[in-house]
Amino acid sequence: MNLIRPSLLLLLSIAGLARAAPDAAPAPFPDQPALREIAAAVSADELRGTITHLVGFGTRHTASDTASPTRGIGAARRWVQSRFAAISRDCGGCLQVATPSQTFTGPRLPQPTEVMDIVAVQRGTTDPQRVIVITGHLDSRVGDVMDATSDAPGANDDASGVAALMEAARVLSKHKLRATVVYAALSGEEQGLYGGKVLVDHAKVEGWQVQADLNNDIVGNSRGQDGVHDNGTVRVFSEGTKAVETPAQAGKRRYNGGELDSPSRNVARFIATLSERYVTNLRVQMVYRTDRYGRGGDQVPFLDAGIPAVRVTEAHEDYTRQHQALRTEGGIAYGDTIDGVDFPYLAQVTRLNAVTLAAMANAPQPPKGVSISGAVTPDTTVQWQAQPGVAGWRVWWRETTAPQWQHSRHVAGDATQLVLKNVVIDDWFFGVSAVSADGYESPVVFPGDPGSF
Ligand SMILES: [Zn+2]
Repeated sequence: MNLIRPSLLLLLSIAGLARAAPDAAPAPFPDQPALREIAAAVSADELRGTITHLVGFGTRHTASDTASPTRGIGAARRWVQSRFAAISRDCGGCLQVATPSQTFTGPRLPQPTEVMDIVAVQRGTTDPQRVIVITGHLDSRVGDVMDATSDAPGANDDASGVAALMEAARVLSKHKLRATVVYAALSGEEQGLYGGKVLVDHAKVEGWQVQADLNNDIVGNSRGQDGVHDNGTVRVFSEGTKAVETPAQAGKRRYNGGELDSPSRNVARFIATLSERYVTNLRVQMVYRTDRYGRGGDQVPFLDAGIPAVRVTEAHEDYTRQHQALRTEGGIAYGDTIDGVDFPYLAQVTRLNAVTLAAMANAPQPPKGVSISGAVTPDTTVQWQAQPGVAGWRVWWRETTAPQWQHSRHVAGDATQLVLKNVVIDDWFFGVSAVSADGYESPVVFPGDPGSF
C-alpha cells in the first residue's frame, strides 16, 4: 500500500467514522521507534560470524556424524544450542531452548535417523499463547542428496537462514514483545522437509496458537546466475488458497473470490508494507506461489497443518552454488561457499524479518469472524468479532486486481462493524486489521474461510 501522510489519515478516519466519535479513535499508524531500533541493531558482522562457524562443521547433512565435536550435524546443532543459551544469558534468561526430535525413514533417509530442531522460545509478555515463528534449516547437501560425508558448506542454503533467525533472536531478546516469538533452526529439510513437521508437532504438543511462520531459506546471495546483481529486492512466496481448504469451501471461494487472500498471502502483504516503512532500500517482491516452481521448503508442513506461512528467498538465485559438490568445471567454481554470501544484503533481509516478528507480536491477534454483506444494495457492511484489548479496527478495501490494500477507514475498538456507504460489494475485496493502543496493526484478514487465520 502507499504510505499516506498522518494528516490525511486523520481526515480519512474522521470522514470514515460510521459509529464512533472522531476523538474515540486512536491515531492510526504512528511511527514505531522500537522497530527502527530493531532494524538498526542487526549486524552484518554477527551474520558473518554465524555462517563462518556453520560452514566450519564441514557438512551438516542430516545423516552425517552426530558424535564428533567438530564435524557434522550433531556438532552444528550443539553449537546453535550454545549460542541460543548465550543470547539468553544476556537477556536474563529470556529464551527457553528446546530440542524436539523425531526419527524418520524415507526415500532420502534409508536408515532410521533422528531429526532434531534447535528451538529458542521468547515468551510473550501479555499474549504468550499466540506464537510467531521464524525458521531456517541447518542441514546441507551436495549434488548427491544421499552423500552424508563430503564437504557441504551450505553457506547460503541455508546457513544464511539460520544466521538470520539467530541474529533476530539476539536483537529481539533485548525487547519485550507481547506475543511469543519462536526461533527455530530445523534439520532434515533436504531429506524431505522433516524438521518442519517436527516443529509443527511440537507446536501442537505445546498448545501454541501459531499465527505465522516466516521461513528463510537461501536469503544471502545478491548475484544471480542470470547475471543480475540486485541487493535491494527480496522475494516473499505465499500460497493463494489454503492447503486445508475443503471442497465445500473451495466451491464458495471459486464463486465469490478469495483465491488471492489466504492468511499467508496477507502476511506477505504485511511484510511488504513493513519493508517500505522500516527497511530502507529493500523492496519485497511478492510472488503468488507457495514456493519456487516445483520446489519446496519448510513452510510447506506449516501450510499442510493449516498454519499461515511464507517463504523468504533472495531475488536472484545462483544454481551453480546450490546442491553442488565442491569443484571447478569449465572455469566455474561450483558449491555453496561463504564467498557467495553478500553480508550487507543478508543483514537487510534479517532486518525485515526482525521488524516483522516484532510488529506482528506487538499487534493484536488478527481479527476473527470477519464477514461482509450488502449484495443488491449500494453499501457494504464489514463485520468482525469483538476482541478484548483491541483499541481500533481498520477496514481495508482494494480493487479486485490490485496486489495491495488500497483504501482504509479506522474505527474505535468497541465497534464490530462498519458500513461503507456507496462502496459496492461487487467491485472490491475487503479486509479488517486490529490495531493496538500504541498503533501496532495486525495483518489484514480477508472475510470468511479463505482468509481466516
Ligand atoms: Zn534450502
